[in-house]
Amino acid sequence: MTSFIPYGKQDISEADIAAMVEVLKSDRITQGPAIERFEQAVADYCGVQYAVAVSSATAALHIACLALELKAGERLWTSPNTFVASANCGRYCGAEVDFVDIDPKTYNLSVAALESKLKTAQAQGQLPTVVVPVHLAGQSCEMERIAELARQYGFRVIEDASHAIGARYQGKPVGCCEYSDLAVFSFHPVKIITTGEGGMVLTNQEELYQKLIRLRTHGITREQDLMTEASHGGWYYQQLELGLNYRLTDIQAALGASQMQRLDKFVARRRVLAQRYNELLQYLPLTLPWQYPDTNSSWHLYVIRLQLDKINKSHQQVFAALRDAQIGVNLHYIPVHTQPYYQKLGFQWGDYPEAEQYYREAISIPLYYGLTDIEQERVVDSIRNALL
Ligand SMILES: *Cc1c(COP(=O)(O)O)cnc(C)c1O
Repeated sequence: MTSFIPYGKQDISEADIAAMVEVLKSDRITQGPAIERFEQAVADYCGVQYAVAVSSATAALHIACLALELKAGERLWTSPNTFVASANCGRYCGAEVDFVDIDPKTYNLSVAALESKLKTAQAQGQLPTVVVPVHLAGQSCEMERIAELARQYGFRVIEDASHAIGARYQGKPVGCCEYSDLAVFSFHPVKIITTGEGGMVLTNQEELYQKLIRLRTHGITREQDLMTEASHGGWYYQQLELGLNYRLTDIQAALGASQMQRLDKFVARRRVLAQRYNELLQYLPLTLPWQYPDTNSSWHLYVIRLQLDKINKSHQQVFAALRDAQIGVNLHYIPVHTQPYYQKLGFQWGDYPEAEQYYREAISIPLYYGLTDIEQERVVDSIRNALL
């Protein structure tokens, strides 16, 4: 019986487990010292001022939008080639969501398409309040150009860096927020590091940081400076705005802080595996990932595109043949605008042709820290057979 090779998988060490057990034996199992340790470790790694740990990247995107005061009727734009959460955060705030088609080389939001859509929107008085570039597979978007457009057209930027902790752009860590207001990481088990479920928001702006801290815990503050009247006593707190309970537990944060110590090792192995795929797959009828010269990906995903005019199999057939061979391929992503929820809001097939063409050809193949060379060779052999 051949074993199943998933497309992604966490790596939990004995040290990770020991770190969680230590919290379980302590007095504070939520919002204790491990949260601060984890936040500090990520902030130091990224070279950013502030980090706020939350229960998921979805929660992180939501409070990032709230911190920017995205309101009902305003607009949030993102890529159609992403997980639904990158768009849904706008809907939680009652904003209109719209999409910018992808660059056919990087599969990230196209800056040229963004620029032309902004021109049209300006003429119609419908500019976005927030744009959410998504660093697909761990490759940064062209953030410098996006930041220029943000200044010119007056929108704010949230990087959905769910795939990209450990990646670099122009030599600096993704998450440093040099070209954005906020950046978001996910710690779901298939991502680069994990806390089971978890996410983080990063920023260099103190005012945003103070809002994020409150929004994570019901909009409540215990700081006298921020209160509208003198404290009534030691028990007193005030709710200043409508927040949520998006806290991460200390148990999870201990896992995250421990995983951070191996982040560089995780990413280094992913880079080696990606380079090996580049070599092992180069003569097959496939389009392999293209890397923008300014970027150094964390390789969350390795996406191949089938050259359908060169093979006698359909996309579905190749995908099914790989699953039959116990290769846990996947597809990232179904274009978000084609989801029934978004179709009900007025989007339809045909709206974003590049994202749709990508969807008809793309397959994510296994890539994770623990993937062995021999398993990787089995993936490559299975792909070769599936294309015949
Ligand atoms: C995983 C992911 C999310 C959501 O992350 P959660 O931590 O599961 O909420 C958002 N955006 C992208 C691009 C993702 O890949």
